[in-house]
Amino acid sequence: MEFFKCIDKGPGLKRLFIGGVHGKEGLSTINAIKKISENDVKDGTLVIYNCDESRYISTLNPLYYQSTVGKEILYLINHYQPDMYIELHCYKPESYPALTSIDRIKRVGVPPLIELEKGVLIGSVSPQIRTKIFKKEDICITLEMPCSPSPETLNIYVNFLKVLASAKNRFDLENKVTKIYPEQVETSQKYAHIIFGEYPPF
Ligand SMILES: [Zn+2]
Repeated sequence: MEFFKCIDKGPGLKRLFIGGVHGKEGLSTINAIKKISENDVKDGTLVIYNCDESRYISTLNPLYYQSTVGKEILYLINHYQPDMYIELHCYKPESYPALTSIDRIKRVGVPPLIELEKGVLIGSVSPQIRTKIFKKEDICITLEMPCSPSPETLNIYVNFLKVLASAKNRFDLENKVTKIYPEQVETSQKYAHIIFGEYPPF
């Protein structure tokens, strides 16, 4: 389900949130995206885009960025030059163990996703873009929830998006998230170090 919105509150962080990057995920992520309002952004800009349904190709696969939707995303990143880039995904419940187990590093070359609460998972974005397109200091986060989530899970997911939308910069974001999810922030820093060396956590 295609959706586009731009919230402009003047100078500040440039944010880009993209939902439903592959398969039918957009049908679930649109429900979270629609709950972000003008008031959630205090300064800077937020561009929100939810993609139409597309063929499922993993974003870890280099071919993804040669697909129509992959190219669309590269265009949006290039056009808006975000300091904060958030991908909204959803997963089938049976994928939970594969997404969160430590051997994900060996299997697909990226660290496991970290659970915030109630099946809401956080991680970095595909190395295909994280290390090739974004700067070291940019904030890049993948946020996953089960597809067709319970109202409780959707609420946690939306609240985290609102924290991201209101964060002024990386420091402010780390402070805010550490207050709510201290253990998860610590784990993410550990994973980032394994994969990226001195790279920032997200
Ligand atoms: Zn996905």
